[in-house]
Amino acid sequence: MKIHEYQAKELFRQYKVPVPEGQAATTVEEAIDAADKLGGFPVVVKAQIHAGGRGKGGGVKLAASKQEAKDHIEAILGMTLVTPQTGPEGRLVNTLLIEAGQKIREELYLSLLVDRETARIIIITCREGGMDIEEVAERSPEKIIKVTVDPLQGLQGYHLRELIFGLDLPVPVRKGFSTLVKNLFNLFMERDCSLVEINPLIISDDDQVLALDAKVDVDSNGLFRHKDILAYRDLGEEDPLEVEASKYNLNYINLDGNVGNIVNGAGLAMATMDIIKNAGAEPANFMDVGGGATAEMVENGLRIILKDEKVKAILINIFGGILRCDVFAEGVVQAAKSVGINIPVVVRMEGTNVEKGRQILAESGLNLVTAVDLADAAEKIAAAVK
Ligand code: GDP
Ligand code: MN
Repeated sequence: MKIHEYQAKELFRQYKVPVPEGQAATTVEEAIDAADKLGGFPVVVKAQIHAGGRGKGGGVKLAASKQEAKDHIEAILGMTLVTPQTGPEGRLVNTLLIEAGQKIREELYLSLLVDRETARIIIITCREGGMDIEEVAERSPEKIIKVTVDPLQGLQGYHLRELIFGLDLPVPVRKGFSTLVKNLFNLFMERDCSLVEINPLIISDDDQVLALDAKVDVDSNGLFRHKDILAYRDLGEEDPLEVEASKYNLNYINLDGNVGNIVNGAGLAMATMDIIKNAGAEPANFMDVGGGATAEMVENGLRIILKDEKVKAILINIFGGILRCDVFAEGVVQAAKSVGINIPVVVRMEGTNVEKGRQILAESGLNLVTAVDLADAAEKIAAAVK
């Protein structure tokens, strides 16, 4: 789950990771109030959306006076912010973060993330942080320092030394940097994070290190033990179809293609997406209704996929194990009747009571295409969207 910068900074404060003084606001009055309370200028006006690159899109502005702050607040709040990460449609800005402006001597990059390949936590840092970090990584990858930490061993002194000497940090900055990394590592572990990123991490004129930006992603599977973080969830930032699917416990991810698919079991869902691609078509979504899915879950899945306007045909691929094929077929027929389907639907099923299931589909009077196996299903679905 993604959270906003101001929420990530609340977590940083809990773990004594230094951040600028600041406050979130959702109205112009609140924001101006927040700027006044900081007691001086410059202040920074920052759009709060679940996407980066806000600086480049005009969503982060420095204000040298109250009038300037007011102008920026009025311009950014309510704007549709387009950044390199939002796509052309952009994101509506409903919340601002108003912060005390900082004097920046240097902008560094620092992040922690779960590295699947080594099953460890990887710390990435770079002396040349800021808005063009992707360029640095491209142009001079040797400037990016990576240290992997075994989660059972935890962060050790030698990890910190590797980072500090890799960055060639000035002596007066080293202690503050070490403490910050230690605290950030504790946050990462205790709060089940999958990513913590600070870009830029700044060094001030008086050698202090400070997180100017904050990005935190939390593993959704760990949210049950972090109620305070769960309360940060902003449904307005999430795909509406994914929000609806999560209400029914469907594992659903919206994608770019036009073949909708409903599958029981994550492995089968991955394989189904592969065969769709193999047949020259593109999946419009990943949907796993679960190995023990009920007919009702299939119906909910069907309803959600049909709301997706880019879907031109649907492939239902079910292995009848816990869910028997005849029960499933009855569910599909019932769902098709209640939802109303006006695009081609290809059904492939296999498993317990498959003959009975096929018979139910054949006699339903519905315009369903049945496939005998996976290859046949792929061919038929590809033909349906051509
Ligand atoms: P992002 O573009 O979404 O990553 O937003 P950031 O929070 O990283 O802000 C973008 C840029 O704005 C930073 O890289 C800084 O250069 C600049 N910036 C943000 N806050 C301040 C500040 O307090 N003082 C100054 N001088 N620049 C700032
Ligand atoms: Mn940033």
